[in-house]
Amino acid sequence: MIDFTLTDEQEALRELAHDFAEREIRPVAWHYDRDATFPREIIDRAWEVGLMNLYVPESYGGPGLGYLDGTLIEEEMSWGCSGIQTSIGCNSLAITPLLLAGSEQLRRTYLERVTQSPVLASFCITEPAAGSDVAALSTRAVRRGHGYVISGSKCFITNGGYAGFYTVFAKTDPAAGHRGISCFIVPREAGVVVDGHEDKMGQRASNTATVTFPDVEIPADHLVGAENEGFRIAMMTLDRTRPGVAAMATGIARAAFEFAVSYARERVQFGVPIASHQAIQFMIADMATEIEAARLLAWKSAVLIDQGARNTLLSSHAKRFAADIAMKVATDAVQVYGGYGFIKDYPVEKLMRDAKIMQLYEGTAQIQRIVIAREVLEGARG
Ligand SMILES: Cc1cc2nc3c(=O)[nH]c(=O)nc-3n(C[C@H](O)[C@H](O)[C@H](O)COP(=O)(O)OP(=O)(O)OC[C@H]3O[C@@H](n4cnc5c(N)ncnc54)[C@H](O)[C@@H]3O)c2cc1C
Repeated sequence: MIDFTLTDEQEALRELAHDFAEREIRPVAWHYDRDATFPREIIDRAWEVGLMNLYVPESYGGPGLGYLDGTLIEEEMSWGCSGIQTSIGCNSLAITPLLLAGSEQLRRTYLERVTQSPVLASFCITEPAAGSDVAALSTRAVRRGHGYVISGSKCFITNGGYAGFYTVFAKTDPAAGHRGISCFIVPREAGVVVDGHEDKMGQRASNTATVTFPDVEIPADHLVGAENEGFRIAMMTLDRTRPGVAAMATGIARAAFEFAVSYARERVQFGVPIASHQAIQFMIADMATEIEAARLLAWKSAVLIDQGARNTLLSSHAKRFAADIAMKVATDAVQVYGGYGFIKDYPVEKLMRDAKIMQLYEGTAQIQRIVIAREVLEGARG
C-alpha cells in the first residue's frame, strides 16, 4: 500500500529543518548572496543540531538517517537558501563513496572526522576538460612505494577552499577510459593546493574552488573500493545524491511560489489585486502542481534507496524534473512581481539565479535526459 504519511520522527525532522532555515538561514540569506559570504557559522550550527552528515551511521557518530528523511531536510533548508544548503549538504556527496565502498579503517578515520567536529569534505570529479564526460578526466594516480601519487587539477569544487579532505577521482589506467578511474581520499594536509573562488551567478554563499594536487602522496589504503572501480562508485554516488538535489530544487520552487502568492494578493492593478487576474492565477496554479509533482518524484527516488532498490531512472527523473520546474517557477515568480521582480530589493531574482545551478551540477538537464532515455530504451542494467 502506498502511504504518503510521514512518521512522527520525520515530521519532527522536517520541523527542525524548517525552524533552522527560518531562524538561522532566511534572515541572512540575501546579504550572504550579495556579498558572497561563506556561511561558516551557519554550517557549524547545522552540524551542532544534527542537520549535517545525514546518512553517516550511528556507529560512526552520525544520525544514520534514511534518504527520504534527507529529502525532507534538504527541501526545508533550501527553502531558506539553497546556496547555504549546498555548503551544508556537500559533505553527504563527498562521503557517499566511503559509505558505499570504503574499507572499515578508512570509514572510521574519515567519517569520525566529520562527526566529531564540523570538518568539511569535497567531492572532486570535474576538470576543465572533463565535465559531463567524466571518462575524459586526466588527473593521474600512480602507485609508488607504499602509496599513490595524485597529480592533476579539479575545477568547480564545492567547499574546495574549506575542506579538510577531498574525495578524488583519478586515472589509474589511462588507456581504459571510464574503466581506468579510481577513487581516493586525499587529506588536505597531504599538500592540496586551493586556487581561488568562483564569482557565481547564483548560490553565491557556497564556495566553489579550483583544487590542485601537485604530486600529492597518499597512503595506498586511501583507495576507496578496488582500483579502477571509481566510475561505478561515482555513478552510484550520484544515484544517491540526486534525490537530495531534487528536494533542494523543490525548496527553491516553494520559496519562489510563496513569495509570488503573497505578492499577487497585495499588488493592485486595474483596481483589483493581480491575483484576481486569471493569467496570474494560472501561473500560480501551474507552480503549485509542479511543486507537488517534483516533491513526489524526490520522495519516490529516495524511498527506493531506503528499500535497497536500484533508483538510477527515478533519481534522474526527479533531478531533471525538479531542476527544470525550479527554473520555471522562479522565472514565473519574477513575472508575477513584474518590474519589481527584476530589482534586487525584492526576493525573487535571487531565487531565479539560484535555480539555474539545479539544471547544471550533479549532471546537467541534458545528461539526466540521456540517462533516462538509456534506461527507458535499453532497459534497467545492474
Ligand atoms: C556552482 C557549481 C558547483 C559545482 N560543484 C561541483 C563539485 O562539488 N564537484 C564536482 O566534481 N563538480 C562540481 N561542479 C561541476 C558540475 O557538475 C559540472 O559543471 C557539470 O557536470 C557540467 O560540466 P561542464 O560544466 O564541464 O559542462 P559540459 O559538460 O561542457 O556541458 C556543456 C553543455 O553541453 C551539454 N552536453 C554535454 N555533453 C552532452 C551530450 N553528450 N549530449 C547532449 N548535451 C551535452 C551539457 O548538458 C551542457 O549544456 C559544480 C559546478 C558548479 C557551477
